[in-house]
Amino acid sequence: MMNEIVDVTGGKGGNSFLILGKEKTALIDCGMAYCGDKLISNIRQVLDTRVLDYIFISHSHYDHVGAIPYLKRTWPDSMVLGAEHAQRILHRQNALHTIRELARQAAQIYNAGILEEYDDALLKVDHCIYDGDIMELGGSSITVIETQGHTKCSLSFLISDGTLFPSETTGCMSKTGKIYPGFITSYSEAIASIHKCQAINPRFIISPHFGLVSEDDRPGYWQNCLTAIEETKEFILRLFKQGYNNEEILIEYEKMFRDEQSRLEQPTNAFRLNAQGMIKTVLKEKVFSA
Ligand SMILES: [Zn+2]
Repeated sequence: MMNEIVDVTGGKGGNSFLILGKEKTALIDCGMAYCGDKLISNIRQVLDTRVLDYIFISHSHYDHVGAIPYLKRTWPDSMVLGAEHAQRILHRQNALHTIRELARQAAQIYNAGILEEYDDALLKVDHCIYDGDIMELGGSSITVIETQGHTKCSLSFLISDGTLFPSETTGCMSKTGKIYPGFITSYSEAIASIHKCQAINPRFIISPHFGLVSEDDRPGYWQNCLTAIEETKEFILRLFKQGYNNEEILIEYEKMFRDEQSRLEQPTNAFRLNAQGMIKTVLKEKVFSA
């Protein structure tokens, strides 16, 4: 990876990378709210006297947008860029309420204590970005790639040095190399999104919630993403055919896939929300395709 891309992740639960252009600086995702302080000090160390210009968000989930209000307080002129759908979501009072609740829970789970107060009004997308948009940073650029399937607002980002930040739609790698699938809103769109990322044939891959994929894991990466969601779909459909309802499928799913590694890397409520979403999606799309 080029040294103009720096990992500034503030803590467990979501990662953040800083991209240094000659003229502009950009952050890719900001992680959880409780990591705000650490994230800001990490960014400050790298930026030195420069300011943060752009904050790109891959989607509107709390573990990717949580620190936005603190970042905006520190760099009021920074611009938050995300999908139009993410902008709509972050306008909704109930979404902001959910984000705050999940942020509070995460602060407890990760022993970060009480969440520092923040202003909901700062938690928003300032500027909408679309598939194919290119943001120039001076000497490097960021291309926006719509990759729906995890959410309707999921975006992947390709840096001009060939580094791809695939969205959570494609899956997240674990420390064991296994891929956790995350197709909450659409199975078929997730498949298409994986193919779309694969076709880019990126030089480097930064897997969400993980980081840089090693040279050894890179050749099989996209196939592993496809296999992971295929396996999940098959597992859910098999139970459905045996007469299990959604809640029963969730219990079996948890027994099967909630391993030690998953426990370390994802809070239980987030794991369940993810699984519930995938179960609903598989059963819904099964009906549609029948
Ligand atoms: Zn997410």
